[in-house]
Amino acid sequence: MKKNGIGTKAIHSGQRPEEKTGAVIPPIYQTSTFAQKSPGKTIAGYDYTRAGNPNYSRLEETLASLEGGKCATVFSSGLGATTAWLTTIGPGRVVANEDLYGGTYRLLTAVFQKYGVKTHFVQTDSLKSWEAGIDLKPDWLFVETPTNPLLKQANLRKICRLAHSKKVRVIVDNTFATPYFQKPLELGADVVLHSTTKYLGGHSDLIGGVLITNDKKLKSSFDFARKAVGLNPSPFDCWLASRGVKTLAVRMEQHQKNARAVVSVLKQSAKVRPVFYAGFGGMVSAQLKNGADARKFIKGLQLFTLAESLGGVESLICLPAAMTHASIPPKERARIGLGDGLVRLSVGIETTRDLVDDVSQSLKRL
Ligand SMILES: *Cc1c(COP(=O)(O)O)cnc(C)c1O
Repeated sequence: MKKNGIGTKAIHSGQRPEEKTGAVIPPIYQTSTFAQKSPGKTIAGYDYTRAGNPNYSRLEETLASLEGGKCATVFSSGLGATTAWLTTIGPGRVVANEDLYGGTYRLLTAVFQKYGVKTHFVQTDSLKSWEAGIDLKPDWLFVETPTNPLLKQANLRKICRLAHSKKVRVIVDNTFATPYFQKPLELGADVVLHSTTKYLGGHSDLIGGVLITNDKKLKSSFDFARKAVGLNPSPFDCWLASRGVKTLAVRMEQHQKNARAVVSVLKQSAKVRPVFYAGFGGMVSAQLKNGADARKFIKGLQLFTLAESLGGVESLICLPAAMTHASIPPKERARIGLGDGLVRLSVGIETTRDLVDDVSQSLKRL
């Protein structure tokens, strides 16, 4: 499978027909427990679904293959995956970029700080800032790139090289880019994290997360965390993710095509300054004059649903300051440029012209 392109891997890695019956689409192993041959001796390596399930194994094989990694562990959510990683640190220090997904920020500051994990925040797009962070001798760097919602980018190759020269490990949240646009393990990262809720699942119908790595020891500590802390997904959600991820390549192409068209409409408007776009992918943020304009723009749209989350086939829009990033204190939000007039668009895969027309007509009403 190694040589195959990502479109082929998504459909064939971990996606072979079911062994017993030949069912091309494998069943949902909707079971909590597994019969054993003799006490402690399993039939196929599974004993209890909190610890493992064939639907997990298949999805893990697919996702590891997409990221070019040896192994993966799937979890109940993206934050479940982040929690599993954090439980492997014990008391220690993490250096992370400051404009993180709001839930990650909350988990680091409001939960794990109490358990002795200190987080120091740095500027995503400043190598100097990361260097100063590495000088604090953290156990890990946590890099989210491109960031949510400002779409800033970190130079992963350089950051990983710097970190490894000081024996610091690197975990990358690749939820926004997906392996279609960026493969952090190839750039030197030790672990890749995803909220599979987003582009990998792709249909806004499941919650899930994954950690992918080439390090077998890390993989077993992630498996242990899933079982010991209870961070397991449901077999059905994994089955949905295995189905959704098959179309990743075609979806990402259309997300990007539509996002680029939306970016150019937004850029043409004098009412939007600036537009944030990573240059690839389907996420776009735009700064309107103020909160009132942002709310009016959202209200005027017909094809963009006002909702949190992203990465589904349907277009969504949100107001980060009041929604996804409300857990970041207002002063901190203002400092990192996350104002009340900022809207974030998850551009879907609808017909390009329709999305362009929708954005144009709503901008005209302002
Ligand atoms: C949504 C998201 C998460 C958290 O994932 P959940 O599945 O909602 O727990 C983490 N990182 C990024 C970048 C996200 O967008």
